[in-house]
Amino acid sequence: MIVDIELDKCTSCGLCDPICPADVIHMERNGDREFPAIKYPEHCVTCFNCEIFCPTQCIDVHPIVRRRPLPW
Ligand code: SF4
Ligand code: SF4
Repeated sequence: MIVDIELDKCTSCGLCDPICPADVIHMERNGDREFPAIKYPEHCVTCFNCEIFCPTQCIDVHPIVRRRPLPW
């Protein structure tokens, strides 16, 4: 489950928004920059995509799985 995004390390690259398969993270404008917001944490499937692909390692995903898609 996604826990936190350290915005002070974020470069606003925007990668975490389209890379999330569950549409949890949305980029939102704040002043002259956009920052990622954890919009729908309850939809997180703990795939770790955001944590792995964030170029500055500022996203923390906890291994506890709240909702894993069933294989059927
Ligand atoms: S762990 Fe996966 S599902 Fe959860 S926010 Fe990150 S990319 Fe989205
Ligand atoms: S992938 Fe990382 S650096 Fe890029 S917008 Fe998301 S949190 Fe920020």
